[in-house]
Amino acid sequence: MFGPPGAGKGTQAERLKRDLGLTHLATGDILRQEVAAGTALGAEAKRFMNEGKLVPDAVVIGMIRGRLECAPDDFLLDGFPRTLPQAEALDVMLGELDAPLQAVVSLVVPNDELERRLGGRWLCRACGRSYHEVSNPHTPRDDCEANGPGACDLYQRDDDRPEAIATRLATYATDTAPVLGYYAERGVLVQIDGTGALDDVYARIRAALATAP
Ligand code: AMP
Repeated sequence: MFGPPGAGKGTQAERLKRDLGLTHLATGDILRQEVAAGTALGAEAKRFMNEGKLVPDAVVIGMIRGRLECAPDDFLLDGFPRTLPQAEALDVMLGELDAPLQAVVSLVVPNDELERRLGGRWLCRACGRSYHEVSNPHTPRDDCEANGPGACDLYQRDDDRPEAIATRLATYATDTAPVLGYYAERGVLVQIDGTGALDDVYARIRAALATAP
């Protein structure tokens, strides 16, 4: 699952995970868990994350290697790879696992829309669900998948501050966007319009995956 910050990777990945029975491996989520648990890896990653910068390749590649070694057959990577060295390392890892890459789903959303989405984003600490101040506000009727009805524990990510958002979008353009060409050449890239209603974006993804090579 590929795309700039705020494109909806995590939200759409949750749906794919639920409907296709995939294991969801989101490097951002794993890194935030490491930070929350106070591990050495988390301490190293935190300063990069808070500024909206990428965590060094060696750290992220080592982390994902450990997860892939114990992942079941069908898994969905979300937020990895984000650089060309990560994409090359992933090829090696998938080769070792004899697990071919089936599709790279890239969500396309204009920058002004991304800034608007990230600026108003609130997440639930317990179930991970994402809300938006304007387009998808949390209401007392919303169920928390972990805590029960109306009990989401909402917070804003440190890297959803305006300075960090600007850095994340710039980093996407310089470091991550070139990975698209890498996968386009291999014929596995599926570009999806990531704007509009969540259900519509999801329908586009499912339709594209149904006909993907
Ligand atoms: P995300 O939740 O996907 O927006 O990721 C949050 C932050 O985690 C990013 O801004 C980076 O600092 C870090 N991160 C996540 N995935 C990667 C990756 N593949 N490579 C480097 N840093 C990453």
